[in-house]
Amino acid sequence: MENEDYPELTPQRFSELDRLRAAMDAMRNLPPERAISAMPVIVPYMAIVGRVEHYKRGEEHCFRITRTVAGHEPDEIWEEKPLNAHAVRDEFLNVKDWSGAYDFLTTTGIFSPLDDTITWSEFQRWQRFTRLVLEHEPLASAMQRGDTSGEHWEVLKALTGDYASSFFDVNREPVSSKEAEWMEREKLRHPEIVPMILEGQQHQEKERRKLWTWFQGPPGKFCSIEWIPKRKEDADAVLPLLRKGGAMIEFLLPRKSLRPAFVIHPWTTLHAIAAAIYADYSNGVEYRTCQFCNRLFPVGRQKSKKFCNQRQCKNAAHSRKSRRNERERKMKAKAEEKLREVPTDKAKQR
Ligand SMILES: [Zn+2]
Repeated sequence: MENEDYPELTPQRFSELDRLRAAMDAMRNLPPERAISAMPVIVPYMAIVGRVEHYKRGEEHCFRITRTVAGHEPDEIWEEKPLNAHAVRDEFLNVKDWSGAYDFLTTTGIFSPLDDTITWSEFQRWQRFTRLVLEHEPLASAMQRGDTSGEHWEVLKALTGDYASSFFDVNREPVSSKEAEWMEREKLRHPEIVPMILEGQQHQEKERRKLWTWFQGPPGKFCSIEWIPKRKEDADAVLPLLRKGGAMIEFLLPRKSLRPAFVIHPWTTLHAIAAAIYADYSNGVEYRTCQFCNRLFPVGRQKSKKFCNQRQCKNAAHSRKSRRNERERKMKAKAEEKLREVPTDKAKQR
């Protein structure tokens, strides 16, 4: 099969294409009444909130999220805090500077599964990535055009999980030249560690790609369809029974008292943000950049909306436009007046 349209995006995706074809065929022969009723997509997120250390390396702000108690090194302390994944995502996108990032990490805890240290530059890259995925439209357009230049394509590559992407190539915690020199000396002195270092780097790259794919959709093993009691009284009644090993809720309550829910299980902030994006996407919520304030806003029933807050941003954009028009009109009038003052050659002749 030829892959001329998407030179870098298709080769490893055949199995997915085959699965999609098979599913579409099976759908055509679906017996009636074999559908799960509309389900809410829910993201229960229990954040692990520790302590955040802030320090600078060169010009870069670095944050280390740790559970150790300062001054009592072997001791650990952290708080498990249930957070609303959608609110976490919105707050994350609203962080404007490094001190905002510090506050965010202090309240939301473990940020990434890759490392307990994150730089302000990396934080901003993740904001940009989140924003682009959430907005969807520009990515869809790059994919449909097969446009391989620019950051949209790098985001698409990252989302597949099959390719290296340069999107996140920013300064990781900067390594000082002294440390780099030391590492090179160690490699020369103990050549046997080189394969181990390589293996470590490969493992790290694999983990990075796994995390990126969460933003296309959480992997199947972190999602489940659960039966949830419709009424709180039923939930309260079965909870003690469920605590006993082996109890299954579908045998404790009649089917009509239960409703299905699609549940995503994140375990770090980035997973929770990805899950919130997926929940919106699967429920058909679209996002767009406000033409006035540049914030992302959910597009409601009114599909042609261009401003986040119709009243404020639309009015502000409107008055900015009319002020500009007024300014231009005045300048034009002045210019015309000036022109009239200068006698033209023809006027002189008369
Ligand atoms: Zn706005």
